[in-house]
Amino acid sequence: MSKTAIEQADFGQTIRCVLPIAAGETIFPLPGRVVPAADRYTVQIDATSHLDPDGHDWRLTNHSCQPNAVMDVDRRELRALRPIAAGEDISFDYNTTEWSMAAPFACECREPGCLGTVRGFRFLSHAQRNAIAGQLSACLRGQLMVETLAAD
Ligand SMILES: [Zn+2]
Repeated sequence: MSKTAIEQADFGQTIRCVLPIAAGETIFPLPGRVVPAADRYTVQIDATSHLDPDGHDWRLTNHSCQPNAVMDVDRRELRALRPIAAGEDISFDYNTTEWSMAAPFACECREPGCLGTVRGFRFLSHAQRNAIAGQLSACLRGQLMVETLAAD
């Protein structure tokens, strides 16, 4: 995590960019172990497995409804969606990995289009699902495809 550092924010710990990161750059890999049940720190791999950060720092990556990074569960890496400047908090959209969140929460990202309560992909409208289609894990992309085919 050479271009990021863990810092204290008003809402708790955050992973902050300390050196500029380019769009598409891998910010850090996602070491961990595969577990059968979700908790507030896991990211979903498929219907029955989740990646547990097992104490690694990436567990502190916060949610934003307008994130600057994407959690690529399939490649096990967090990548920048756009250039990220020093001082920005690294974030991804939890709805892009979780079907139904183990620990839903009220979002305070204050971004335009903030969803309010973040509960998981399952609870998004079809339009909201389509808006994040490019950031989805293979598992949720498959779900979106099933829905789209069913709607035709
Ligand atoms: Zn939000």
